[in-house]
Amino acid sequence: MATNKKEIKFIGQVTKIKQTKPQTVIEWPRTLTHVHTFGLLSPFFQGLKEGKLKATFCPNKNCPENLLWIPPRAHCPDCHTEMKWKILRNPVIGTIYAYTEVAYAGAGIELSTPYWQVDVESPGLATIPKSYLLHGTPTIGMKVKAEFRTKNPTNTVLDYYWVPYKE
Ligand SMILES: [Zn+2]
Repeated sequence: MATNKKEIKFIGQVTKIKQTKPQTVIEWPRTLTHVHTFGLLSPFFQGLKEGKLKATFCPNKNCPENLLWIPPRAHCPDCHTEMKWKILRNPVIGTIYAYTEVAYAGAGIELSTPYWQVDVESPGLATIPKSYLLHGTPTIGMKVKAEFRTKNPTNTVLDYYWVPYKE
């Protein structure tokens, strides 16, 4: 009978002991790389880097919902037809529908706190997407303009945000 000499090996990194008194505390670094595809929504993120807000709409003439969607949907939530793209004409002016001050952001939020999270209505949209106000103090009904992080883009939805707009 053959014996299996293969042993289980520790393949991690040895932790660093920070202190032993009054109790042992170790430093145990944990990181992960999250690999994520934007799939059929890739044009939205490419658009942000180019200073363009792209929305999707349902091309099915018999669909009950033909308004624009931001965040975009790859397929129509109402009839499941593959959506088409439309670029919103700049400047994109919206109206603050709701807001909240974020004092303690969740893990992974890469904005300095506190910041104003704003829900913004824009003409032609079926949705009231969330984003953030770059500067200023929001009020309900306040006009805001979409701006874009075209220099050093994050390649995430943080590449667009709103700023106060005066007509
Ligand atoms: Zn549809």
